[in-house]
This record gives sequence, C-alpha cells and structure tokens, in this order.
Amino acid sequence: MNRVALLCALTCIGCGACVAACPNSSASLFTSAKLTQFAKLPQGQPERDIRTIRMVTTMDDEGFGNCSNIGECEAVCPKGISINNISRMRRDYVRAVLRTGGRVTES
Ligand code: SF4
Repeated sequence: MNRVALLCALTCIGCGACVAACPNSSASLFTSAKLTQFAKLPQGQPERDIRTIRMVTTMDDEGFGNCSNIGECEAVCPKGISINNISRMRRDYVRAVLRTGGRVTES
C-alpha cells in the first residue's frame, strides 16, 4: 500500500455509506480503513495482531456480512477509500491468527 492510499484511509469519517451500499451489509471497508490507520504507523505496531483479531471478530459478532468483492463500498465512499484496504485487513487477520493461535487475552 502506498503512502497516498494510507493517507486516504486516514480520512474515513465513519459515515457508514459503505455498509449501506453493500448488498451483503459488510462493514469491511470501514473496519479495514480504521485498521489501516494503525497498521501503517509505528505507534500501531505493538498491538497490531490483537487489534486486528478483535475488530474483525467484533464485526462478525455484530452480524455484518462478509465481503464478496462487489465493490459498491468503494464506489460510494465519499473519501475515495480503496477496497485494497480490505485485502490488507484479511492478510493481517490471517497473520495475526497464525502468530497468536487466535487467542486474545484481556489487557
Ligand atoms: S463510506 Fe468511506 S468514509 Fe464512510 S465509513 Fe465507509 S470507508 Fe469510511
């Protein structure tokens, strides 16, 4: 992800337009934009794995649908946030589960 894409992810205003437009009611673009804000900054590294697992798990627990790469979220996002953030979130999630075994302790 280049610097422009990171700066774009930083502009997410949490409007929810991406969720409303998605036929699966997926919150993946919103969640991935928020995760990118921390994943690409030095300050975000110490709790990166735990943060990723918790946010993805919470998204699933709250009943949001799964992303199936339709792209409506990206098309309606007023900040032009890229669907590539979802790919990055998925990679981070798999890596976090492999590193931690999926176990997240309370801090
Ligand atoms: S539509 Fe864009 S700005 Fe609004 S919550 Fe989704 S990712 Fe953030």
